[in-house]
Amino acid sequence: MDCWEQRVIEEAAKSYGTKTQTIQAVEEFSELLVVLSKIVNGRYSSKDHLIPLIDEVADCQIMLNSLKSIYEIEDQVSERVFFKLNRLRERVRERNGRHGDEKL
Ligand SMILES: [Mg+2]
Repeated sequence: MDCWEQRVIEEAAKSYGTKTQTIQAVEEFSELLVVLSKIVNGRYSSKDHLIPLIDEVADCQIMLNSLKSIYEIEDQVSERVFFKLNRLRERVRERNGRHGDEKL
């Protein structure tokens, strides 16, 4: 997250408060859930899903960064992301019989 994004997020957290921003995160995640559900259920025609998908992913990314900032868990989340990506890499390698992408 760059400095500008961090400043906007901190200003929003100060203005709206932790509880409101947390509720906002729940709402944004719910909106993404609806879009994803519509995609898998074929409720969009051709590529009509891309605009709402991009919009909701952007909202969720902002809210994830907001939650990390508000609860001061940036470093812990980064550590868990690293751990979980390593675990995923191992699972993918096992699934591919270790003949998958050697760059992983
Ligand atoms: Mg939204």
